[in-house]
Amino acid sequence: MRRHRKIKIVATLGPASSTKEMIRILHEAGADVFRLNMSHGSHDDVAARHRAIREVEAEMGQPIAILADLQGPKLRVGVFGGEGAFDLEVGQPFRLDLNDAPGDATRVQLPHKEIFDALEPGASLLVNDGKIRLLVNDCGRDFANCTVTVGGTISNRKGVNVPDVVLPLAALSDKDRRDLEFVCELGVDWLALSFVQRVADVEEARSLAKGRAAILSKIEKPAAVKDFDGILAASDGIMVARGDLGVELPVQNVPPIQKRLVRKCRAAAKPVIVATQMLESMIESPVPTRAEVSDVATAIYEGADAIMLSAESAAGQFPREAVATMDAVAQEVESDPTYTQIIESSRSAHRTTVADGIVSAAREIAETTDVKAIACFSESGTTALLVARERPRVPIIALTSLEGTARRLSLTWGVDCVVSEPVDRFKHAVLAAIHAAVDQGYAQPTERIVVTAGVPFNTPGSTNILRVAPCQERLIYEGEPE
Ligand code: PGA
Ligand code: MN
Repeated sequence: MRRHRKIKIVATLGPASSTKEMIRILHEAGADVFRLNMSHGSHDDVAARHRAIREVEAEMGQPIAILADLQGPKLRVGVFGGEGAFDLEVGQPFRLDLNDAPGDATRVQLPHKEIFDALEPGASLLVNDGKIRLLVNDCGRDFANCTVTVGGTISNRKGVNVPDVVLPLAALSDKDRRDLEFVCELGVDWLALSFVQRVADVEEARSLAKGRAAILSKIEKPAAVKDFDGILAASDGIMVARGDLGVELPVQNVPPIQKRLVRKCRAAAKPVIVATQMLESMIESPVPTRAEVSDVATAIYEGADAIMLSAESAAGQFPREAVATMDAVAQEVESDPTYTQIIESSRSAHRTTVADGIVSAAREIAETTDVKAIACFSESGTTALLVARERPRVPIIALTSLEGTARRLSLTWGVDCVVSEPVDRFKHAVLAAIHAAVDQGYAQPTERIVVTAGVPFNTPGSTNILRVAPCQERLIYEGEPE
């Protein structure tokens, strides 16, 4: 099934989208990647969704990426007595401690010793998505006496953010480690790491994943924004996780950070997802607000690789409509000449390798002649990422013999992946590329495509050949004896 857009769509699965029928409907509506959120659901639920995705993938004959999102060190308060909820008024004192007795309007447990170790007077604690703010007056090894600076209702196990402090927390909790091993054994393509604070967090996950999945860092902590260059270098992909980022930092900081991160990821040829609240109102409404449409459009104009749905597809009433809305907005934006202009004027000129030169030449040929597609042979996926960085106007067909590479590339802008037989001669590579282009409807037999490959074959990162091939050639080759 050919997509008529370049940006990819990530749909989070949940109670509203866990059946195979619904997963197929979302894929047909435009979802290229499915996100399994490890914060919710049992391992059995995750395995069932995973199986359903792979069945849909096999039936559709198109690689689908599965992204498992680890919960990370998400902090939560303990539980309350009585009704389980209390109103906090501005100016009142409120105490957090390690005591597991049920909380009330004056105190509650915060079962994270590491926070008390790192807290200092003057720090802010944000509760329930930042709706409640507490200012720390004094604190010790097992308590913090605070003043409520923004009031609201506090209830059982609400999330806590501590933006001002780099917490001495392990990047991966025990639950994360169990989840990581479970999903890697199931076979996922991407592992998303929540609340990454430093490069070492990414490295630790990578050593546990042992090559079984690519690593995507979610940027949702001020510390990660600060050390973004290092984190990007250590990661295979990035998510601009605007939900928690907008709690940990003033919300108005999020748009400029989004722009900067998207740009850096593109320059590094690593996929970047813009996530959270993109079509929030569609959780309950079949149509989006104008502002949401504009937000989705902005991410597309910025050149992001992918846009993501969270609760809209996981728990909302209109999962299909939400995916279809993203698809429609993407098609419209990408056909706008201003989009092409913006994307092409923000291309980075930093090219150092032969492969960089070849893919840039391929893009230039596509811009100045009537070739219909760029087909690249890419076993590891690296060359396909470089072609995508060029943001060519024509479709990118990535050919690989590795299913894992094809699935991972489903997250990358403009790349349509085809799993092909391994090739050992350039002539066969050209033939396979022509077949893929004609079969997928990218080129007519009378038209031409650009083919890039590395010879000798099966040496990663060796792209060194470019050919403009008439699709007619398959007739010539096919008539030829071996
Ligand atoms: P989450 O991450 O949905 O797992 O919280 C995304 C975000 O914080 O934006
Ligand atoms: Mn988050």
